[in-house]
Formats: sequence, C-alpha cells, structure tokens
Amino acid sequence: MPELPEVETIRRQLAPVVEGCRIEDVEVLDPRWCEPAPPWEVANAARGRRIDRLARRGKYLVWELSGDVHLVMHLRMTGNLLYTDDARFARVRLRLDDGGSVVFADQRRFGTGVVLLGGDARDEYFASRLGVEPLSADFTAEHMRELARGRRAPAKAFLLNQERIAGVGNIYADEALFIARIHPLRPIGKLRGKQFEGLRAAVVEVLEAGIDARGATIDDFRHTDGASGAFQDRFLVHLRAGEPCVRCGATIRKIRAAGRGTYFCPRCQRAPRAA
Ligand SMILES: [Zn+2]
Repeated sequence: MPELPEVETIRRQLAPVVEGCRIEDVEVLDPRWCEPAPPWEVANAARGRRIDRLARRGKYLVWELSGDVHLVMHLRMTGNLLYTDDARFARVRLRLDDGGSVVFADQRRFGTGVVLLGGDARDEYFASRLGVEPLSADFTAEHMRELARGRRAPAKAFLLNQERIAGVGNIYADEALFIARIHPLRPIGKLRGKQFEGLRAAVVEVLEAGIDARGATIDDFRHTDGASGAFQDRFLVHLRAGEPCVRCGATIRKIRAAGRGTYFCPRCQRAPRAA
C-alpha cells in the first residue's frame, strides 16, 4: 500500500507536469471510485478548472483547482497515478488541455476520489481523518508524548493510526521502530521522554529516506511513468525475517501486530515484560 513517501513521490513527479493545466474532462470509468457521488457530479465540479497546485496531506493527494475546488484522491491498496492516456485497470482518466492525461489505475479498486467545495470543507474532511503531518514542524516529541499519554496501544498500532500521525504505514513503522530500538508491541504510553525523541527522529528519518529513494515498490506501487521505487532495497528489517540484523547479527523475526506482518530484531528491540 502506498504510504507517505510513495504518495509524495507521485506528487513530486506529477506536480511540474500538471500544475497550470486546465482539466478538460474527468472520465470516471468505475463509478465506485467516487461513491456516493455520481461520476457526472465529479466531472462537472472539475471540468474547465485550472490545476493551481498538486498537494499532499498524509496519504491523500489533493488537486487544488481554481475557484477553491479540491479533488482529493486516496490510492488505498493498489492505486497508481500514471501520466498516460490509457493503462491496465484504469478507473478514472483526467484529460488536460495541453493534450496530456492522468490515469488512476487500480487493480483491486479500493482507491477513492471526492470533490470538496472550498477550503473549509477540505479542512473539515481532513480534521476528522488525519492527525499531525510527520514532516511538518508540528510533529515534535512533545506532541507525540501528548498523543500517547495513558494509552496502552502497542507502538506499532500507534504509528499506523492515521488519526494521530498521518501517512505512516506498515513499512515505515517497522523501519522507524527498529531505528529507535522500540519493540513493536511495547505500550506507547510507557515510553520515556528520550524514547519519544528517538522515535520522532526515526519516523522523520525513514520517511525522508523513502522519499529520497522515490518510494518502495513491493507489489503495485509505480512512478507516474511506470517505473519502480528503490526503497525496498534499503529495508533494515521489513520483509527480512530470518536474515541477520544489520546492527547486531541476531535473526530478524516476524510477528503480527495491529493485524499486520511486523518485522523486528529481538535483541535490538527488547520485548515488553507482558509480551
Ligand atoms: Zn539487532
């Protein structure tokens, strides 16, 4: 599933190509994409508008259109945005006035799109879904400690919760916990101040490294030209069960945490007493 670095990679590739263009048409080929809104409503709201900015919030891509209209997309499991006029599993096609097209391709069809009229509607939409943006100045160790206070959720589940920290998913949570030497099942409310410092820094470090490598391609994620990311070649623990820890040589283990396959070093990331 695309996480913050993958969505940011798409944004950085697409923004210089589409910003300033006008949308000639939005062809919703799969009406499920924008449910409950009908396809014509999305098309009517976007047609003829200029793309002022392609932005990102958490794992969402935000097409800021002229007239304060926002087309918000989520790629979910297998969504990709390709700069092309046709692709396998195409669900939506945006036709631009310079002759270019962007296709929302999505094999498993969990991706979504919604039109929000006005900045207030957009802010309200995100306020109910997303917490702090981890690459913003608001993401501090103190903020994280506040979010964690009194909570018994395992550290892994805490990082995956989009309503607290936006954009971190399974890959980057594993990598961040390894760097910070925190066991994925350790209750988040039990961390010490220094551990929050370490975890905050580790989250920022892995997200920036992911962006630097242009995302991780494990299954479906592709760049806007169909190329793959490279971060999967830099994983420290994720998907490395049975291999030696790069730090201490112990064997990386896989468990289930927060319903997801979770990788960690049993020596570097000490288990909490109860686990
Ligand atoms: Zn280790």
